[in-house]
Amino acid sequence: MTGETNPFKNALKQLRIACDAMGINEDIYNYLSHPQRIVQVSIPVKMDDGHLEIFEGFRVLHNSARGPGKGGIRYAAEVNMDEVKALATWMTWKCACVGIPYGGAKGGVTVDPRKLSVGELERLTRRFTANIINVIGPETDIPAPDMNTGGREMGWMMDTYSMQKGHVVHGVCTGKPVEIGGSLGRTQATGHGVAFCMHEYAKRHNMKPEECTVVVQGFGNVGQYTCLTAKDFGYKIIATSDISGAYYNPEGLDIDEMFAYISDPAHRTLEGYTKAQKISNSELLELECTFMNPCALENQVTEENAPRIKAKCLVEGANGPVTPKADEILESRGIDVVPDILANAGGVTCSYFEWVQDRMALFWDLDQVNKELDKIMLRAFDGVHELAQEKKCSYRLAAYFIAVQRVAKAIEMRGIYP
Ligand code: NAD
Repeated sequence: MTGETNPFKNALKQLRIACDAMGINEDIYNYLSHPQRIVQVSIPVKMDDGHLEIFEGFRVLHNSARGPGKGGIRYAAEVNMDEVKALATWMTWKCACVGIPYGGAKGGVTVDPRKLSVGELERLTRRFTANIINVIGPETDIPAPDMNTGGREMGWMMDTYSMQKGHVVHGVCTGKPVEIGGSLGRTQATGHGVAFCMHEYAKRHNMKPEECTVVVQGFGNVGQYTCLTAKDFGYKIIATSDISGAYYNPEGLDIDEMFAYISDPAHRTLEGYTKAQKISNSELLELECTFMNPCALENQVTEENAPRIKAKCLVEGANGPVTPKADEILESRGIDVVPDILANAGGVTCSYFEWVQDRMALFWDLDQVNKELDKIMLRAFDGVHELAQEKKCSYRLAAYFIAVQRVAKAIEMRGIYP
C-alpha cells in the first residue's frame, strides 16, 4: 500500500481537511483520529481435508458518541487493520451524515472466500463471531454484510451469538434473511440509495435521465441494485464490471439479463457474458459518460488516472473509491463527487430499520421500508447539496461538515468520561 492508497491515512486526511475548513478544535481532531476500540483475533478453522488453518480477523469501533457501533464484515484476501480502521471511521461519518443514531464500526477477515467450501466458511464465521462476542451486541456494536458476506453469513452470526446467550438475539446483526429477523428491502437498499442520489443530483443540475449515460464499476450487491434502480429511473447503463473484467455497450446494457446471468449458480461472475464488448477495468473507469459510479472497492480513482476521468459526476457506491489526491484533481477539473458517506448510506439506513424492527418485534412491509428510506436519503442529500451551494465547496466537504459537526457536538454534550 502506498501513501496514497493506505485507506486509514486517506480517512485521516479527509478528516484533517474537514476540521481545518470548519475550524474544529485540535482536541476533537485528535479524539476522532483514534478509533475507540481495536480487536484483532486469530480464527482457527478445521478445513475439509482435516488440516487446521488460522485466519486473521478484525473488529474496530471507531466512535460511539452518537450510538452503538454499526458496520459491515468484509471477507477478502487484502483485508488488513488499516483498511478496517478506515472503513470504521467512514461509518461514523456516514451514520452522522444521514442522521441515524449510530457510531461507526467495521470488521473483516483476511480470507479469499472463493477458496473455502460452504462448510469451511460457516466454521470461520461462527468462530470469528465467538472470538468477538464480548465486543458485539445490539446495544454495543452491530455487524452487517460487506464485500463477500451476505444474509447467509449474518444468519450464522446471529445463530452463534444467540446460542451463546441462550436466547434469540435478532438485533445482534443486520442484513439477515427476512425469515430470521431481516428487513424487506435491505438487499436492494445500498444500490437503491446510490441510484437515488445520482437521480437527485441529476434533478438539481437539470439533467434528464434519458440523456445521461451511466457506468457502474462492480456488479456485486451494490453495483447490481444501482444498475437495476437506475434503469427503473430511465437511465442508460453503458458499462459495468466485476472481478472477471468490464462489459461495455454504448447502446445500453440489458441489466435484467446480466442480473439473471450472474444470479445463475453456474456463473456467479460475468465471465462468459457475450452481449457486450469486453474491456479492462481501467478502460471502464475512463469511459466517456455522464455518471461514473464506482461500486467495487477503494482506491480506484487515484492521482494517476484522475486526469483521464471523463464522467461529469462520480457517485461513490463503494467506500473510499476516490483518494484525497484524486479528489483535488477532479474538483479542479469541475467533476463533482457525491461522496460515499452520503451516496452508499442507504444500506446502513435500512440496517437501522431492521434493528428497529427486531427490537420492536414488529415488521414493516416493503412500501414502508422504501418510503422511510427515501425520506432519510432525500433529507440527507438536500442538506449536503444546500451546504455545498452555500459554502461553494465540494459535496464531500459539505457532507463532512455535517457529519463531523454532529459527532463533535455529541462528544461535547456527553463530555469526556470520567
Ligand atoms: P460484493 O462482494 O457484493 O461486490 C463487489 C464487486 O466488486 C463484485 O462485482 C466483484 O467482482 C468486484 N470486484 C472485487 N474485486 C475487484 C477487483 N479487484 N477489480 C474489479 N472488481 C472487483 O460487495 P458489495 O457489498 O457490493 O460492496 C461493494 C462496495 O460497496 C464495498 O466498498 C463496500 O464496502 C461498499 N458498501 C457495501 C454496502 C452493502 O450494503 N453491501 C453498503 C455500503 C457500502
